[in-house]
Amino acid sequence: MSNFDEFIQADERYAATFTKGDLPMPPGRKIAIVACMDARLDPAKFLGLEEGDAHVIRNAGGRAADAIRSLIISQQLLGTREIAVIHHTDCGMLTFTEEQLHQKLHDELHVHAEIEFLPFTDVEQSVRDDVEIIRTSPLLLSNVPVRGYVYDVHTGRLHEVT
Ligand code: ZN
Repeated sequence: MSNFDEFIQADERYAATFTKGDLPMPPGRKIAIVACMDARLDPAKFLGLEEGDAHVIRNAGGRAADAIRSLIISQQLLGTREIAVIHHTDCGMLTFTEEQLHQKLHDELHVHAEIEFLPFTDVEQSVRDDVEIIRTSPLLLSNVPVRGYVYDVHTGRLHEVT
C-alpha cells in the first residue's frame, strides 16, 4: 500500500474521534514557531502543542529568511505576538555548501536556480542569526519577544540559545 493510501486510512481513524471542529483560526497561544522540516522533529509533541495552539512554520533548516512571508501573515492577520526559532543537532543543512547544491542542480537538471539554500556550519550561530533577522526585520513587529533554541535529536531536549 502506498503512503497516500495509508494516509486516508490514518485520517479515517483520526476523524472518528475528532472533537476540535470549532476552533478559531487565530492560534490560541498567540505564538509562531519557525522550525526545521527534519523528520525527527515533532514540535507539537516536544512543545506540548495541541490543534489550534500555534503556527508552526517549517522549512529546510528552520531559516527565518524563508519564513518571513508566513510570519507577516501570522502577525498581521492572525494575531501572534511571540516567535520561537528552533534549529537542531545533526541538521542536514550542516552537510552541504551553497556551491555544492547549485552544482548538483546544474548537473542533474541543467538549471541555474536563483535560490539561496542557506546552509550553515554552526547550529547555535544559525539560531542567533535567524533570531536577529526576525528582531530587525522592518516587516515584523519590533516589540514581539523572539527566542531561539537548539533541539537535540538524540535526547529530545530543547536548549535555549538566545
Ligand atoms: Zn534540520
